[in-house]
Amino acid sequence: MHEMSLTEGILQMLEDQAKAQAFSRVLTIWLEIGELSTVDPDALTFCFEALRSGTLADGARVEIIRLPGQAFCMDCARTVRLAQRYDSCPDCGGDSLQVTGGDEMRVKELEVE
Ligand SMILES: [Zn+2]
Repeated sequence: MHEMSLTEGILQMLEDQAKAQAFSRVLTIWLEIGELSTVDPDALTFCFEALRSGTLADGARVEIIRLPGQAFCMDCARTVRLAQRYDSCPDCGGDSLQVTGGDEMRVKELEVE
């Protein structure tokens, strides 16, 4: 379950941010997770709730924002909506797709005090 190490990365990032920006507690954390990323939002939330105790994010709320998958189709020469990473183009059925969005995970916003 790589969500565990992702969560550790997020918590480490929060510690660094807290030092840099002088806050002591995280109240809410908004995470953007692309539909094409390999991150499972439920697993991530679970790991976060398991690992956050004793950290500055203890009791923090996790809000997950799903980003739609996007790819550029070489055959259609335009950007199309992609529900799953290895799907074919929804318009022409071709496989010459390059993922252009929705495969990332990042912290979008923090509510701190
Ligand atoms: Zn196409």
